[in-house]
Amino acid sequence: MKLLDQLASSLDALRKQSLIRTRRTVDTPCGPRVTVEGRELLAFCSNDYLGLAAHPAITAALREGTELYGAGSGASHLISGHFRAHAALEERLADFAGPHLVDARALYFSTGYMANLAVLTALAVGDRDTEIFSEALNHASLIDGARLSRKTVKVYPHANVEALDELLGTSQASNKIVVTDSVFSMDGNLAPLPALLALCEKHGAWLVVDDAHGFGTLGENGRGALEHFGLRSPYLVYVGTLGKAAGVGGAFVAAHATVIDTLVQRARPYIFTTAAPPALAHALLASLDIIAGGEGRERRSHLAGLVAQWHDGLRLARWTALPSQTAIQPVIIGANDATMEAAAALYERGIWVGGIRPPTVPADSARLRVTLSAGHTTADVARLLDNINEVNAHMERSRDGA
Ligand code: PMP
Repeated sequence: MKLLDQLASSLDALRKQSLIRTRRTVDTPCGPRVTVEGRELLAFCSNDYLGLAAHPAITAALREGTELYGAGSGASHLISGHFRAHAALEERLADFAGPHLVDARALYFSTGYMANLAVLTALAVGDRDTEIFSEALNHASLIDGARLSRKTVKVYPHANVEALDELLGTSQASNKIVVTDSVFSMDGNLAPLPALLALCEKHGAWLVVDDAHGFGTLGENGRGALEHFGLRSPYLVYVGTLGKAAGVGGAFVAAHATVIDTLVQRARPYIFTTAAPPALAHALLASLDIIAGGEGRERRSHLAGLVAQWHDGLRLARWTALPSQTAIQPVIIGANDATMEAAAALYERGIWVGGIRPPTVPADSARLRVTLSAGHTTADVARLLDNINEVNAHMERSRDGA
């Protein structure tokens, strides 16, 4: 039992620091209202930013996909698991991202986590002289991808273009890879992509952009951060995820055809795993129709209205709402226990908001991570605001001993 005791005591240590993570089991489709343990909750914690996860056109396409292709792919893409729906999706995604790349192709992955591991390991492969320049607030999957590459990794301070310029300028590596989230997943702000791309062009570096939280929500047509900033370059490697705004699952890399060929040949997280069910790819075609069309535009504009309503309606003492203009709206509380207390108080009031603690965010910056979705109404956001303002006032009063 000694080995189990060791694990149990490390779990106890987490519990003592208010760092234990829990799962709640949801019985209804992902959406603004979900049922958990028999209670209906107003949810502000999913990444379903456009409210597409249970959209009838997409669920119908998913059913149609299973009729056409069955449930599972049966093998990895390079054996026999690459179906017509995967190929069709990749063509659509390449067209979609095409205006921002040169000779664009796309590759569909089962998850964004794997896509990021794939890009960083494959761009580094076969070249002894690679350095990876990683933004300080990058997502865990980029950090893990950089580690897995076994190359030198230099972390540059958050959004600090001058520091990156200096690091790139002093690097002797012949293969330089700069990698950044486009929308920081726990802060909601945007990376300075135009300045980063200019630096990459100056120093002959790749720019890998993880647009997990921008794809579908940013840009006139929902093409994401590259469209938002109007960027185009053969050195851009774009990662978009399809389980957040697109409402289904998986991810894609879009880049120059030679990059995609390299991934297919070299990326172990692509090669050695069973292909995602083709029905998902079929459903994603329906999701892309919505994102790129008039309905997508309406949903993005409704979401922008909710973001403005959120900022207008907050009345917080001591807690700090970050100035994010995206669907991700963090409220920094600081201490882990106070953050979890706030999340629990909201939950009691029927509002589900995630509490985020280290190591996901730096120490002493625990926060509520509110995510808004086009699926919410203005009345939903008004209810959220009333409750968060009240919980804040109540907790601050008790803190002051009033
Ligand atoms: N990149 C970022 C910035 C993310 O936030 C996430 C997921 N939270 C991922 C990548 C991983 O994507 P997936 O969930 O599809 O594995």
